[in-house]
Amino acid sequence: MSKVILQIDGNNFYASCEQMIDPSIKGKGLVVLSNNDGCIIARNSEARKMGIPMGQPYFKLKNKLTQLNIEVRSSNYELYGDISNRLMQLLRRNCENLEIYSIDEAFGTIKRPKGKCLYQWGKDLRALVYQNIGIPISIGIGETKVLSKISNHLAKKIKNNSGIFDIGIIQNKDHYLNQIKVDKVWGIGKRMSIWLKSKGITNAREFRDMSSEQINGKYGVVGLRIQNELKGNLCIPIQETSPDRKEICVSRSFAYPIDSLEDLSQAIIKYVLTASAKLRKYNQLSSAITVFTNTNTHSKDFFRSEATGKISVPTSNSKIMIEKSLLLTKEIFKPYKKFIKAGVTLHKLQSNKYKQKLIFDTKNIQKDLYLKRLDNVIDNINLKNGIDTINWGSSMIDKEWEPRRKKLSSTKTTNIENIPTIYAI
Ligand SMILES: [Mg+2]
Repeated sequence: MSKVILQIDGNNFYASCEQMIDPSIKGKGLVVLSNNDGCIIARNSEARKMGIPMGQPYFKLKNKLTQLNIEVRSSNYELYGDISNRLMQLLRRNCENLEIYSIDEAFGTIKRPKGKCLYQWGKDLRALVYQNIGIPISIGIGETKVLSKISNHLAKKIKNNSGIFDIGIIQNKDHYLNQIKVDKVWGIGKRMSIWLKSKGITNAREFRDMSSEQINGKYGVVGLRIQNELKGNLCIPIQETSPDRKEICVSRSFAYPIDSLEDLSQAIIKYVLTASAKLRKYNQLSSAITVFTNTNTHSKDFFRSEATGKISVPTSNSKIMIEKSLLLTKEIFKPYKKFIKAGVTLHKLQSNKYKQKLIFDTKNIQKDLYLKRLDNVIDNINLKNGIDTINWGSSMIDKEWEPRRKKLSSTKTTNIENIPTIYAI
């Protein structure tokens, strides 16, 4: 038995989630828009075949999309996050180790019975995921992370392969590595691929076989690791626990420019509440907060401002953060400017296991406890019943500036109010 690495990836993930909760759009073209319904950030294979490009502004393609009868959805991150959690839980039960790499990607390990191809195993996992979650996945299998990534790429590329490829079973991989352009190799960035191309290295096989000294001289151990992984030597281990976050940032564009301090404060409070809830979810505390805003980057009098404040005792408490950020918002606000975006960054994060308190501050201990309980109650209610079921008054005022999400699908999987009702007659 030998250990192999799996790389599992949700196909056209955002589009697949949308199709899963609305089967009526299956078989039709579908695109998903970015925040504020700005650009196309995801499309299904039907839309791709119809020639709809990624990253294009929605307004430019609106007519074409209507003509082609392509469905359009605003991004529904609540839905994608929920489906991602379900996917990862199912994968965790079916792999030995699992590293969640992004919202729709994971690395895992399993044991390979001597010399046995894992195609059938992959096929069963794929069917299980589709049956339980309704999302198609691709599975790449290889001896290392870099090879499993390449394998996944081939799984998508090779037709009639049901989205599974096991490069680990192939002794001479040259034929396959020749097909992978060097900039598609995991870990090779833009700069490195330009340098490699200048040395005449264009594909993964050539990179694997080039002089190690040459790579070491330019990119040191980072470059050598990628080359070694391509040779089948495991150098980049699976990381089951993700390293603690260093900062949390929440920012959004507005539906239309805002120019009043009230609107800007409201927006900032809303982002502070989202960020502090995240902080509590990851059991962390923050001791510094930055708020920022800007006008249109393309306008002649572009204006951007930010302010940072320290928090003397590290906290994850919403009330303390709202108070601090309101003061900072007054600092960054400038009259007659038309702001189109704002955000909040919480930094200097630390674990909440050990909290450094002020030595002579005994009065506030009880108050601290009350605030913590209040946060817990709010988080639990919102978790069970959906975002913003209950929140601080200052964030609940009618917000016309909120980003456009005109084409939002429902939150059937995360909001109890939206669970479909079935009537039996
Ligand atoms: Mg994907």
